[in-house]
Amino acid sequence: MSLVSNAIESLRNELLVEQGLELLEDPADLRRLSRDCFDYSPVLQDQLEGCRAELVVRPQDVAAVERLAALCSKHRVPLTVRGAGTGNYGQSVPLEGGVVMLTGNLQAIRHLDPISGVVTVEPGCPMRDLDQWLRGHGRQLRLLPSTWRSASIGGFLAGGSGGIGSIRWGFLRDPGHLLGLEVVSMQQQPQRLTLPAHQAEALNHAYGTNGIITALQLATAPAVTWQQLVIDCPDWEGAVALMLACGRSAIALHLVTLLEQPLLRHLPPWSGPAGEAHRLLLLVSPDGVSSVQRLADAHGGQLRDLGPEDLNGGNGLRELTWNHTTLHLRSADPSWTYLQMLLPQPELAAMAMLRQRWGEELLWHLEAVRQQGSVRLAALPLVRWSNHERLEQLMNDCRQAGAFLFNPHVLTVEDGGLGVVDADQVAAKARFDPAGLLNPGKLRGWTERS
Ligand code: FAD
Repeated sequence: MSLVSNAIESLRNELLVEQGLELLEDPADLRRLSRDCFDYSPVLQDQLEGCRAELVVRPQDVAAVERLAALCSKHRVPLTVRGAGTGNYGQSVPLEGGVVMLTGNLQAIRHLDPISGVVTVEPGCPMRDLDQWLRGHGRQLRLLPSTWRSASIGGFLAGGSGGIGSIRWGFLRDPGHLLGLEVVSMQQQPQRLTLPAHQAEALNHAYGTNGIITALQLATAPAVTWQQLVIDCPDWEGAVALMLACGRSAIALHLVTLLEQPLLRHLPPWSGPAGEAHRLLLLVSPDGVSSVQRLADAHGGQLRDLGPEDLNGGNGLRELTWNHTTLHLRSADPSWTYLQMLLPQPELAAMAMLRQRWGEELLWHLEAVRQQGSVRLAALPLVRWSNHERLEQLMNDCRQAGAFLFNPHVLTVEDGGLGVVDADQVAAKARFDPAGLLNPGKLRGWTERS
């Protein structure tokens, strides 16, 4: 028996007599809970298909998380935290096996400050439940991924970046969203620490590589009953201009998405039947509807008001946006994959250049976002997969056109982000995971440290 399997066996024997640590060992569970949504990338699909946890453990509370961290540290067994497992880059896939820890029992909403609206919540709380609970108190989440019905709040913070709400609130790593964390360190004698915002930021979007988050303190927004508007635009230039005009207006917006016409044929018909036009999908505050109508008229768009969102339905406009566009297209034809980028300004010239070279191998899906205070267009274009080399060629062309790529076909925090090592993330790992056991292989700055 190898050293690793010896360690796993010893760990397993100790876990069996521990209280509050549910052990899952069924091979089907091990397989299912070692995967996330990496299959959106044919590149990652090949790399991650065989990765398996040897044990899956569900702690009952934060004290049990501490006992699990102590035992894994003692036996030097890697531990990968998993929320709902909806990440797209294999964030919760255990590259080196070991334990996958489920956060599903850590769901408590601990506190809502009635004056500031700051909420303190445990990481396994489903975002849908948290948002619904906040709405009962006149608040709502500022930022949600389109997977908000299934994703956990801890998984979103550690693995996500933005989404619905990004037109108003930018991205999760912008200062002001994350106000503090409770963290358990990965040591034989784990520490439970409360980190203020400036220290917590190092764990924001770090894929659970540098600490186990056991509670998050987040800013929220006043609740709004968002109105769903659909605007059909006969030409692409007019649609992009209207999208930017909406984004730059004083209208309160939660979402502004633009879908190129060929995409509409493959999406569920929740925004109405597909015609010959490109389509904008908006979530707008009730007092903004007439102003959007005015902007649509000025840009030759045809507006339809679908009324207030029904958040129980699961078939509203928000379920057609962000990476849900990719999900729907892939359900119709799994040979599509995607890219993520911030378009350069002016956007139309860059898109025209890429269209000329790539034709309909690339279909445009745009999201208006606030980036460092300015309205910018993010693109999640659908890409017809042929092979790795062609994808690399396309990404190079996008960079040459001036786009900033967030590559969804890579495994590390750095390569999927700005491409550079964040010294604070690495320092936090040295502090909270000195043996390098948390989600190994995902923080390049740690692997490459001297
Ligand atoms: P998981 O996938 O389980 O985990 C994500 C990462 O967080 C992993 O590295 C995990 O180890 C770590 N983690 C989880 N809990 C903890 C913890 N307690 N402590 C430390 N680390 C932890 N993402 C967006 O940002 N915006 C979108 O709009 C968006 N749309 C999507 C649409 C589709 C169809 C799909 C498939 C994915 C989409 N995603 C999006 C990616 C993903 O759904 C989100 O980032 C989601 O919030 C992840 O939550 P989760 O609970 O599934 O996390």
